[in-house]
Amino acid sequence: MDAGAVTFPRRVTRRITVGNVPIGGGAPITVQSMTTTNTADVDGTLQQIYSLAAAGCDIVRCTCNDLDAAGGLARIVPRSPVPIVADIHHQYKMALAALEAGVQGLRLNPGNIRKPEHIKAVASEARDRGVPIRIGVNGGSLDPALYAKYGGKVTPEAMVESAMTEIAYFDEVGFDQIKISVKASNVPLMIEAYRQLAEATDHPLHLGVTEAGPLPGGFIKATAGIATLLAEGIGDTIRYSLTADPVEEAKAGRQLLEAFGLRERKNVDLIACPSCGRAEIDVIAVAEAAQLAFADKELPLQVAVMGCVVNGPGEARDADIGIAAGRHRGHLFVKGMNVAVVPEDEMVSTLVEWAEFISEHGTEAALARVDTEKAKREADKDRAALLDEQGDDVNASEQRVDLIHKKFD
Ligand code: SF4
Repeated sequence: MDAGAVTFPRRVTRRITVGNVPIGGGAPITVQSMTTTNTADVDGTLQQIYSLAAAGCDIVRCTCNDLDAAGGLARIVPRSPVPIVADIHHQYKMALAALEAGVQGLRLNPGNIRKPEHIKAVASEARDRGVPIRIGVNGGSLDPALYAKYGGKVTPEAMVESAMTEIAYFDEVGFDQIKISVKASNVPLMIEAYRQLAEATDHPLHLGVTEAGPLPGGFIKATAGIATLLAEGIGDTIRYSLTADPVEEAKAGRQLLEAFGLRERKNVDLIACPSCGRAEIDVIAVAEAAQLAFADKELPLQVAVMGCVVNGPGEARDADIGIAAGRHRGHLFVKGMNVAVVPEDEMVSTLVEWAEFISEHGTEAALARVDTEKAKREADKDRAALLDEQGDDVNASEQRVDLIHKKFD
């Protein structure tokens, strides 16, 4: 069955540019992450930035918590493969120092820098240098006055008001190169805050569930929040805030956007059947081996690992390439057409070899290099033998249904 193409209409926003990366205004949604190194450690930080960029990160944020960090930024920015955003904590002077260091973006937390004259000083300097600022509201560090105003609770309304107040200060100095985030660790709160913010302003939005935590729970929480909003057309740039190697954040962000069809596929999309009574191999082990084998390869293909040749090639016929097990052999198929039969222990290596060929030469060329009829005959033979051995209903579901009726009717 053709899955067809489904797209989610995107919210219309203004466009800003972080370095050479456009955000909002119909630009591709970008992936962000943050270094965990000491920013003053220039080589260590650059090493992490390069790893993040290789994993699909478009923009990297580094903390700028003191003058040594600002000095580090001055050395990092010219050597970074992606734009650098400085994360400012409590001292507005660090924002001015980061601008002097040449960063391509700032992130200010309105809950931490609260004096209007300080906010306006930073916005004026950013305006003069053409550097955008993210207004990064955080549910956990809301301005105490707003917290009190909303009954001692962090509410979506309080978070949106915090952002809108900051925008008003920026307006006063004629600065509008803004993107905004209203992150919270509570997923429903975060979703509602972004929905309200999307109604209140047309500035681009940066999505994230803050302090989502370690894997796998953090991954699920972040996906629940970010994916819900993306499906509603909200969001122009995203970050997975995981308690993990930041490379995992970049990979997760990239994979989510690719899964939504919001970014072009860069890496293999590995699909695998969940396995069942028909499985002829340990599907989990083979899928893991395939995942490992494709990990460092930039092949924009969908690859399938299927447990049996009875249903596998049909169930994964939309995949660019796949392999299904049958009677200790691997049946390789391309776009649902059988192309080769290999010993079981060569399934993964064959999959990789064919995927590389398809990526370089295309599907037609791959099909042209083999006798697909012969491969189909082999697959049909194993399929028939398995059906003969196992029957149509390998899980004995029908027998169970009969038994239930006999016993309880
Ligand atoms: S029928 Fe075959 S392909 Fe489908 S889940 Fe079972 S083992 Fe996997």
